[in-house]
Amino acid sequence: MLDIFNYFRWQDCVDILVVAFVIHQLITIIRGTRSVQMVVGLGILTLGYFLASVFDLATFKWIMQTFLSSILLIIIIVFQHDIRRTLISVGKSPFHKQTDVAEKELEEIIRTLFYLAKRRIGALIVIERETNLGDFIESGFELDARLTKELLISIFMPASPLHDGAVLISVGRVQHAGCILPLTQNPYINKRYGTRHRAAIGLTEETDAVVLVVSEETQEISIVRHGALTTVEDEISLTNSLKAIFIAKAGHSSSWKNWLNKR
Ligand code: ATP
Ligand code: MG
Repeated sequence: MLDIFNYFRWQDCVDILVVAFVIHQLITIIRGTRSVQMVVGLGILTLGYFLASVFDLATFKWIMQTFLSSILLIIIIVFQHDIRRTLISVGKSPFHKQTDVAEKELEEIIRTLFYLAKRRIGALIVIERETNLGDFIESGFELDARLTKELLISIFMPASPLHDGAVLISVGRVQHAGCILPLTQNPYINKRYGTRHRAAIGLTEETDAVVLVVSEETQEISIVRHGALTTVEDEISLTNSLKAIFIAKAGHSSSWKNWLNKR
C-alpha cells in the first residue's frame, strides 16, 4: 500500500485533477440533453461486450467487437452537435467581445415586439453575443442599419419583401434581415410550436445568441436562450429579463471603466 505513495508523483495528482475536470465538464454539457440517453445506450452496449467476454458467447462478442471497433467514429457522429458546442466554448476569447445592445436599443426592440404582437404579426429577432453567428445562419439581406422601432416594424410587415425569416442584430445594429436559422432536432419540443419557434430554439442550442419571438398565432412573445423558451408575461418582465442579460453585464464592465477613469 505504501508503495503506491512512493511511486505517486505530483504529475499524477495534476493528471487526476485534469481528468476529473474534463469529465465534470462533459457531464455538465450533456446533462438534460438527448445525449444522456445516447451515453446510457453506449454504456449498455459496452456492458454487453464485457458480459459476452465473461460468458464466452462467441457470436455476440464478435458482433459487439465489430461495433465497438468503430466507437470513435460513432461518438463523433452521434455527439457532433455537443462536440461543436464544446469546441466553440473552449475557443472563446477570455476577453468579452463588445457586442451587446445598449438600453436604448433594447427599448426599441421591446416596443417593436409588443407593437407586432398586438397586431398578430410574427417576428424573429436574433441578438448576436460572443459567438459569431456566421457559421450558423444563412444570412439573407445585408442592411447594417441603425436599430429603430420603425425599421424593425417595417421589416416584419407582411407586405415587406424582408418579413420572412429572422432579423440579426449585431453590435447594436440591424445587420441582416430574412435570415434562415437551423431548426432544432429535439423531438421533445411541444408540438404547438412551429418552425419559427423551432428555429429560435435550434440556433440557441448551439450558440449564446438571445432570440426573441413573436407568435402570429397566439400573440405570445418569447425569449429563447440556451435552447430554452420562456414566454413573457408583460412588458415589465420582458424589460427586466433583457436588462438582466445585457445591461447587468455592461454595468459590471462600466464600473471598471469608471474606476480606471478616476485614476
Ligand atoms: P407562429 O406562432 O407565429 O405561427 P410558428 O412557430 O407556428 O410561429 P410557423 O407558423 O411555421 O411557426 O412560422 C413560419 C414563419 O417562421 C415563416 O414564414 C418564416 O418567417 C419563419 N421561419 C420558419 N422557419 C425559419 C427558419 N429556419 N429560420 C428563420 N425563420 C423561419
Ligand atoms: Mg404557426
